[in-house]
Order: sequence, then C-alpha cells, then structure tokens
Amino acid sequence: MAGLTGRCLCEAVAYGLTGKPARTTICCCRFCQRATGGAQLILPVAPMSDFHLTRGGAASYTHVPEGSGKAVHLHFCRDCGTRLYMTYARWPDMVGLFGGTLDNPTVVRFDPTTTKQMGWMAPAPGVAMRHTAGVRICN
Ligand SMILES: [Zn+2]
Ligand SMILES: [Zn+2]
Repeated sequence: MAGLTGRCLCEAVAYGLTGKPARTTICCCRFCQRATGGAQLILPVAPMSDFHLTRGGAASYTHVPEGSGKAVHLHFCRDCGTRLYMTYARWPDMVGLFGGTLDNPTVVRFDPTTTKQMGWMAPAPGVAMRHTAGVRICN
C-alpha cells in the first residue's frame, strides 16, 4: 500500500496520501452516522504531512461534538457535498479520510482495536470487531 488516492463524487476535488494510514477504524457512533449519512464510517487516519489535495479545494464545516468538546473540521466538496476528510483540534497533525472516497477502498486494513460495529453487521473478514470503541478517533 504505497500511497492512496481518492476523490469526491463529481470529481472536482481529489487527494493523495503518501505512505499508508497509521490505522483504519470502522465507526458506527451517531457522529459518524450523521456525518456520512450511512450506517458507518470507514476512517483511515494518517499524518497530515502525508496528505495533499491534488485537485480542487474543499469547503469545511466545524462541529464541536458533545463527547470531546473539541472541534472537528469536516471537509467536503462544495459542488457535490461529498465529505472527503476530517481534521481535528485535538490532533492537528493528523487527518482522517472518509474511506468511501478512496479510489480503491478495499486496500485499507482495519485495526480491530479501534473498530466497532452495529449489532446487525457481520464482522469484516479477519477482523475481531467489537461493539464498544477502544480509542475513539472520529470525534
Ligand atoms: Zn464533488
Ligand atoms: Zn464515530
């Protein structure tokens, strides 16, 4: 996994990641459900220094979650609304990708220590999924 690329739905914004994510979690907390509009967030987290936009520019929305009380910045395409990545007041040197925007989402390997699921979901192959988060890195 020598670098990843991704983009939004309308292709106005694209990004690249050198190296590989430090970890990848699946999160089904309400923050991640609302932020994605789906059942879960696939969240590869990487050093900010490895991340760069390769096309366009993203708009951002800042949310202060009840859990941490620390701002999370959601970066999205202003044309199609796809959320592409998150940055954090708590971890200014880290970036979290909305993993569904990866050009090849199947390359990420989940970290079972930070992955949780909804009760009705089957575990991902090879991942011992838990119902409670270990280290919450979404918000
Ligand atoms: Zn777009
Ligand atoms: Zn979450």
